[in-house]
Amino acid sequence: MAENHDIFKENLSAYALGVLDSEEASALEAHLRTCDECRSELEDYQHLASGLLTALPPQNPPARLKSSLQKRLQGEQRSARPAFSWSLNRTLITGALVLLIALNIVSVFEVVSLKRDQAGLIGEYGSNQTAIAMLAYPSTQSMAFEQNGISGSLLVDKTRNLLAVFAWHLPPTPAGKTYQMWLIDPQGDRTSGGFIKPDSDQPFVMAVIRSPQPLTSFVGLGITLEPSGGSPKPTGPKILRVDF
Ligand SMILES: [Zn+2]
Repeated sequence: MAENHDIFKENLSAYALGVLDSEEASALEAHLRTCDECRSELEDYQHLASGLLTALPPQNPPARLKSSLQKRLQGEQRSARPAFSWSLNRTLITGALVLLIALNIVSVFEVVSLKRDQAGLIGEYGSNQTAIAMLAYPSTQSMAFEQNGISGSLLVDKTRNLLAVFAWHLPPTPAGKTYQMWLIDPQGDRTSGGFIKPDSDQPFVMAVIRSPQPLTSFVGLGITLEPSGGSPKPTGPKILRVDF
């Protein structure tokens, strides 16, 4: 294994100086039995070490010096030990990845919910703009209604096939239900005009219907309470009916 060979090679000088700890020394000795390159390099170190020793008067190094050298060498070995840094890096990288993925998921949810809010606001803003514009059109008819404790007004623009409903005190939508609006033709057939959703923060609610057919082919607007998601034809209790 090339990687281990490199680590052992770095430890050769410490081994030659006799400062490698016993565990590492025996691992290196095992490697030396299989590696010619390390063996020959060790011989060079040993010649160098014995040369140094014979060049100097024989003297045991102070224990403090030896242990500090040992520590320094061990520190260097440790920082060069790939197994250690690999597992540390892997832990850090895995942790960072998990964190990034988690943050990404949170961001995606936030973006989705922001987009939903934005779409709702844009829709609301568009409805408000349409209603304001309708009020300004000379052709818009306006009629007031009061039924079942719900009062309000209906704006009908037959030239632009637009209809706006303003309703006061429409009760909050019951769970699992929705208020569905219907355009009523002279035969009594109903065409869905979408939904009207009371806002708990406001006592009134406004909805705009862009009629799929000329508004002249209808004679009234109805509101019924339907299961969530709406119905193709009215099935629930009638909440309101305004003729125009
Ligand atoms: Zn080797």
